[in-house]
Amino acid sequence: MEHGNIHEPIKYVRRAHWQTEALNWLGSRFFWVSAAATLALSIWLVYYAMHFSSAVAISPEATQTAADLIFKLKIGLTVSLLVFGICFSVNFVGDYALPVTLLGIAALFFFAPSWLPWSGIVSDPRVENMAALTSMAMGALSFAGIALGIGAVLYQVVDASIRVRQRIKYGGREEALGKTEVKEEEDEIRNVFFGKCWQLPFCRKFIRQSCPIYHSRRTCWKERVGCMCEESVILDALHGKVIPRDAIAAARYIPQNTRLSPEQKAERCRNCVIYNEHQRHKYNLLLPAAIVLTAAAYIILHEGLLTATNRALRDIDSAVSRFAFTTAESGKKLVDPVPGFLDEVMLILLMLFVLSQMVRLIEFAVFKLKI
Ligand code: SF4
Ligand code: SF4
Repeated sequence: MEHGNIHEPIKYVRRAHWQTEALNWLGSRFFWVSAAATLALSIWLVYYAMHFSSAVAISPEATQTAADLIFKLKIGLTVSLLVFGICFSVNFVGDYALPVTLLGIAALFFFAPSWLPWSGIVSDPRVENMAALTSMAMGALSFAGIALGIGAVLYQVVDASIRVRQRIKYGGREEALGKTEVKEEEDEIRNVFFGKCWQLPFCRKFIRQSCPIYHSRRTCWKERVGCMCEESVILDALHGKVIPRDAIAAARYIPQNTRLSPEQKAERCRNCVIYNEHQRHKYNLLLPAAIVLTAAAYIILHEGLLTATNRALRDIDSAVSRFAFTTAESGKKLVDPVPGFLDEVMLILLMLFVLSQMVRLIEFAVFKLKI
């Protein structure tokens, strides 16, 4: 009887892609530089907003120079905030709080024109061209916030698609393989979708022939005993024990483990490569379900969702414009009362964000909680 060495450990060779290495290197180097630049430029713009809100009129040339400088600060802040967002994501990649943190930072900048006057940091400008400069300085903070917000949503979407590709292919196999030290049966790989343990790739032929789980047509994780966790199953296979081919008779040979509690046995399964393969199948089922659900919600509730998005954008717009002072430019409403292209784009981004969070939730439930 031919069989491999069941105690032979799996050797994992992690190929460090140069792109990952480079990203990590840049992430650690630029993190503090971009954080310091973001802080400095934000303080500069806040100082300008404070200064111009309390200043008396200046010459048109000086106003133009100040406007040009604010524009440059706006570009600088947007770039440094985006670099900070990328470095932050590289440093905290995989952290469940990452999207919320990034969106929180984006919101802080986006709502600067609301909370700066509200907190008393920026006062009510008395002169018209000073009001325009104050508004520009606060608008620059807001613009950088929008850029980070869109970047954070797009990052979530890209991250989710990469994770999905890996999980569909490997599931939780890598973590489980590290603990159970087994490899796939190469001579006879089978993988029946939602199959029983003996229909999955990790059922080893030489053990299966003497395995009561197989002959009773049951599933090991339901019995909480199997070839990866019960020594007796392996020993019986090594001794070539004959198990009746009849399913009912074979069931009587399934070993009973009374030393461990049900929770301990469940924990054993959660760390087992066989159960993790079963979990991968669950993931492959739940993932399209989440995509279909999101697409269906978008199509069926489109009218209502679009109106709600438009209303939310208008609320934000009026919250911002309440503090944006009266000039011909700044008095203009950004969002139309009738839903249009901007609302549609925002709705699509929102739906993609919701989908990426649903994917993370499914991943967490299936591969961390092992539900
Ligand atoms: S317990 Fe192991 S050997 Fe037995 S049928 Fe299941 S996977 Fe195969
Ligand atoms: S740990 Fe669970 S899934 Fe793995 S062999 Fe044992 S019973 Fe089956």
